[in-house]
Amino acid sequence: MSRSMIQTLCFAGIALVLGCSSTEGELKEELSQSDSLGNEGGAFGNDGNDTLINNEGLSEVNGVKLSTVDVVVSEPLMIEGMGGMGGGWGVTPEIDGPALTTVTAPVYDFGGINTMFKDETPIEVFTANERKFELANVVRVRALGKTLIEVANFAPVDLEDVVVTLSIDDGPQDIVLMVISRLRAHGIAELEYAFLDQEVDFIDLQGDAVDLSEYSENGIWPQNAHFDFTGATEQVQKLLRLKALNWSFHFIDYDKDNDPKNNWAEDVTPRQARLFTSLIINMGYLWVEERFWPLMRDAKLTGNDKALLTIPQKWGAYQRILNKPFYRGGVVANVSGLGGGATFGVANYVLVNAVREGMSSTSTHETAHMIGYSHSSNMTYPSDGVGFGPMNNQLNKLVHMEKGYPVRPDNYYKQGDF
Ligand SMILES: [Zn+2]
Repeated sequence: MSRSMIQTLCFAGIALVLGCSSTEGELKEELSQSDSLGNEGGAFGNDGNDTLINNEGLSEVNGVKLSTVDVVVSEPLMIEGMGGMGGGWGVTPEIDGPALTTVTAPVYDFGGINTMFKDETPIEVFTANERKFELANVVRVRALGKTLIEVANFAPVDLEDVVVTLSIDDGPQDIVLMVISRLRAHGIAELEYAFLDQEVDFIDLQGDAVDLSEYSENGIWPQNAHFDFTGATEQVQKLLRLKALNWSFHFIDYDKDNDPKNNWAEDVTPRQARLFTSLIINMGYLWVEERFWPLMRDAKLTGNDKALLTIPQKWGAYQRILNKPFYRGGVVANVSGLGGGATFGVANYVLVNAVREGMSSTSTHETAHMIGYSHSSNMTYPSDGVGFGPMNNQLNKLVHMEKGYPVRPDNYYKQGDF
């Protein structure tokens, strides 16, 4: 990474703190958008060929990983909720701004690594537990052994300048383990810890030196290694907002016997798995968007008894959405959606529209069922044009128009999917 790139990052970070825009940041945004237009490989300019094997990605990794770079990292954005100064139910969620820290870390280029949801990926692989992910960790890093780790990007968009941190039980915390200069959409890679055979001098997020020589011979027990990610780019900042969600998402084949008489699609596809990551990320994003709660607080929403929900009741419903532990996604047939408990089924056209348009009335309807509302509440179907669906659509139109969603037609990596 060049010195000018470092300065661009600093500018972007400062712009976020001050709430103003930077020429460099805008220029970078325009460049990445024009790069990705009409290009199935996404912003990194490859040809969308998904057949790259892990080893190719790793050799590329090995080629660049010895360099170090100064980067600007930021604290995760969190929704603070209803408490705070006013103490009442009308407080807008507060968002912490990025805290700038300059660190030095090994840099990895994961722009050409293997991907998780290829067209030829078998159904038992792309619906496996291994492909379940938490919305709080769309960039998932985990230990596969004492020396081996895995990095996976569950967003269907290319990312830049992702900072991965490591905290070790009874050891140092928030170590800046690596900076990933380019992380491919849906990319996955295995690699060994950088401190095993070379650098043992690292820095933590506070900028303090960390000596990892204690771990350089035998590595770290997997259960003692805890990873997180952060970053100052606009795209990573959007994904960090999803840390306010408790959801795990798992794409399920609900119709393993291919029974044509039920309402589940016969054979779910890797394309649908790819599109579902867009839907769940964009849906979650709308609900942690800073304008969402004030809108919900002021909306005329009714419960199953048709009585207007009070603000505390609406806050309770909002918390039930944010804290839903599981979304088990599936594709339905004959109907638009099916939802209840952890089951969240939507039709193929709803998946396609998640990239094109963001939130859908099907997604809001099924989620309302999942948090206990029946058809007698306007949380499911609107009444006289008023309800949870129209309220969501109002904000959806704004966020869509502003190109605010994390996943959009201009950055989704497989243009043929939607
Ligand atoms: Zn319903």
